[in-house]
Parts: sequence; C-alpha cells; structure tokens
Amino acid sequence: MTVEKVCSWVESLVQQAGNVGMIASEDRVYCRNQLLKQLGLEDFLPDAAEKLEADIPHILEKIIEAAVEMGKIEPMLEEKEQLQASLMNIFVPQPSVVNHRFYEKYEKDPAEATDYFYQLSRHSNYIHTKRIAKNIHYQTSSAYGNLDITINLSKPEKDPKEIEKEKQRKKDTSYPACVLCMENEGYGGRIGHPARSNHRLIRVPLERERWYLQYSPYVYYNEHCILLSEEHRDMKIQAAAFRRLLAFVEKYPHYFMGSNADLPIVGGSILSHDHYQGGRYTFALAKAEEDFTFTLPKFPQVHASVVKWPMTALRLQAEDRQLLENASEHVRQIWMSYNDPAREIISHSGEVPHNTITPIARRRGETFEIDLVLRNNRTNEEHPAGIFHPHEEVHHIKKENIGLIEVMGLAVLPKRLETELKGVERYLLGETEAVEEIHRPWAEELKGRYGEINEAEKAAAAVKEETGKKFLQVLEHAGVFKRTEDGLQGLRLFIDALK
Ligand SMILES: [Zn+2]
Repeated sequence: MTVEKVCSWVESLVQQAGNVGMIASEDRVYCRNQLLKQLGLEDFLPDAAEKLEADIPHILEKIIEAAVEMGKIEPMLEEKEQLQASLMNIFVPQPSVVNHRFYEKYEKDPAEATDYFYQLSRHSNYIHTKRIAKNIHYQTSSAYGNLDITINLSKPEKDPKEIEKEKQRKKDTSYPACVLCMENEGYGGRIGHPARSNHRLIRVPLERERWYLQYSPYVYYNEHCILLSEEHRDMKIQAAAFRRLLAFVEKYPHYFMGSNADLPIVGGSILSHDHYQGGRYTFALAKAEEDFTFTLPKFPQVHASVVKWPMTALRLQAEDRQLLENASEHVRQIWMSYNDPAREIISHSGEVPHNTITPIARRRGETFEIDLVLRNNRTNEEHPAGIFHPHEEVHHIKKENIGLIEVMGLAVLPKRLETELKGVERYLLGETEAVEEIHRPWAEELKGRYGEINEAEKAAAAVKEETGKKFLQVLEHAGVFKRTEDGLQGLRLFIDALK
C-alpha cells in the first residue's frame, strides 16, 4: 500500500461526496485536508492511475484497509467503524445546519424534507447501505396478503478473538445511556457502543415534548425511521403515546408511525428508551381489509373494525385525531384489565400486568387511522416462552420477540437461516444428510407433501413459500383471539366489553 494510493482514494471520496451533493466545490480542499489529518498523512501525493470510480462505501472500505495497513488503527471492527464514521462526519454539516435545511424543505413539502434527510443519512454511510444490500428479502403470498421475509445478514459478525480483546478493553461507561439517546449525535463510539460521529437528529417537537427523528442504521424497509424522546425513560403505551403517534402522522402524512408494546416478550429489544418506529412503506397489515365493523357507543363518530389479520388488530378511523386518541385510550383501558381465562387471556399475575397494545398510526387521505394490536405476554408451563409468542414447533425458524415490524407483516429472520434453509433445499433434492437436526421434522414433512424435487430452483421456491407459511403460523401464535369460531366468539365478547 503506497501513500500515493491512499491519497488517490481520499481524493475519490471527496469527489464522490461532491457528486452526491454532500459538499460544494468550495469545500473540497478543506475536506481533503481534514481527511488527511485524520489518517495521519502530511503530504498529498495522489497517484493519478489509482483513481477509484466507486461508490462511497466501497472507497471508504479501501481507505479503512489502508489505515489498518499503515498502523493507524487496529484491525478490529469497532476501530474501523469509529474511523469510518469520523471520516464521513467531515462531509456532514452540524446538527443546526441539517435541521435548518430540513425545515426549509418541510415548509414546501414534508416529503421533500424527509427525502433530504434520508439521502444524507445514506450518503454519509450512517445507514449501512452496502451491508443492508446483503440481506435476503422476498415476499410470500398468504390469505392475508403478501408477507415480507428478510434474512438479516447486515450486522457484521465478530470473530471470537476480537470479542476477547474487546472484553479486556471494555470500560464501564454510561454515556450515552443507551444507543437511542440523543446524546449519540456525533458520539465517537467506544468498545461496546457504536460510532455515531456522522449521526444527526431532526428535532421534532411533539405535544410539548422534545422528540428526535433519525433513520435506523440497518433499515429493514424503505425509510425505516426511529422517533425517540429526549428523556431516557421506559417505553409506555398510554394515551400520550397514541397522541404522539397521531401528531406525527399529522405532520408527516407520507409516513406511518407505530410503537412496540411496552412489555417484555411482546415488545421490541429496547424497552428502556421511549421510542417509536415508522417509515415510508406499506406493510401487509396496512393493506389488510376490514373483516367486520363494530360500533363504539361512546365514540359514534369513530369508524371501528376488526382487521382481517392473523393477530387481533382493531382498526379505528376518524377525521379528528383527538377523538381517535380518546377512543384508542378507551380500548386500551378496557383491554388492560380484560380477562378471558378460557382463552388463556389473564390480564395480571398479582400486580404484574400482561395485557398491552402494539399501536400503528397512519393517514388515509384526510382520515387518521390507528391499528391497535392486542397483546398478552403471559407464560405457562406448556409455553414457557410465552402463550401468545411463537410456539416451540416454529422455533426452528423464529423464536425471537414478535415486535412491531413482525406485527405489520415483515419477518426479520436470524442469519443462521441463510445456510440452514439451503440445507433444507438440498434435503428436498435428495441429500438426506444436508439438513440440520432442528429442521429435520419440517424437511421430512415437506418431502411428504412435495414429493421428489429434481430442480434446485423448485426446491428453493418451495422452501421460500414454506418459510412464509411458518411466519404466518408465528403471527397466529401471537394472536390473542384466534381466527377460529371460538376465537371469534371471544373477540365478540371483548368488543361487547368496549360498550
Ligand atoms: Zn436512552
């Protein structure tokens, strides 16, 4: 690796940053010099033959490789990420400037503002576009519409040596308090906490509180964003949460905004920081139709229905968002203490609550709409992981929490399935030893149904389709009122209780 080469890549990076509109021509020499300083280079001697006409993530990778070779950083994932983030930070304006530009565009059109911020977050490599591109993504059809399946391959894996090294170097630090805190804006990172030098947040005041908008660094769907409270406080589903979700979609009608439930098992992975997730993507749940309507006598102007969906989703619609908030809170209040022991729904164990809601708010034209997905996180001997949680027979595909994203119809499946599902395909093609033990009963059942498959393509298609069916089963397990005659009876009783 020659210094000339590195200098050429530095120049390529500056060039690309200019091409995508991150910097103006006046900024080029300044940015080059900042990059040189961070890389410990005093001279600038680009090798004209080495110019890289690649995209930003690719050029960055090359520069990071060079930094390792030059001994500037150790070959550890965390150090590489820190350097990457701080190099890209050079091209990203300060938060006040980003916010100013965002709101200038917002005045014209909210979608123009989010477009600007989404592109900035991508170009700055804060969103790891190159890694996300590795994810396997497809749709499978079901009686409830097309379900999305993603096998998550984007999070980099560390080798055990690296983990050991990290352990030795890890300090007990509590700043920022968590990965969602706004104090991550521009934070350089440390062992065990991601680098966020190139991270910016949009100030989004909501109902007299300070909230912040960012994108997920590992977006699972188009414009997957996160809305977080300034205060590091627990997730809480209550009237104020409905109010904020609706207030947000009033300001950003092209985005939906939902929340994970606030209890373990049925909630997301972070319960300790109040936050919501939204974006510009129409999930199967949003497309799902009304199964039947019902009336809420206390809220005659609210249109209420049960959605045709494997989980129990009530859909409320109104022109007036205050009314919708009140109706949602009414449903929540009743649900919080609702019991149907014959159907395993018990609201409390002593003082410990089990009932909660996964809410999703969106606009339909001028109408506000909110889906209230009823959840219960109780466990029993038969289902120690959760009664309304994927049951054991589907754990070989999914045993993680069924959070907001799954509720809406997107399965985020673990990395291990990439190779394991290939094994199932090979099994269907006749390689009986190819399948892992945990998938064997399923693979055998598929072989019984599909018979002999000779073409690799057909085997792959069958496994995709069947994985989709498993996901549907996962959602059915998570549903509190099953879509059976008996479940429907139970649901009708609950609806009666809303009167
Ligand atoms: Zn926090």
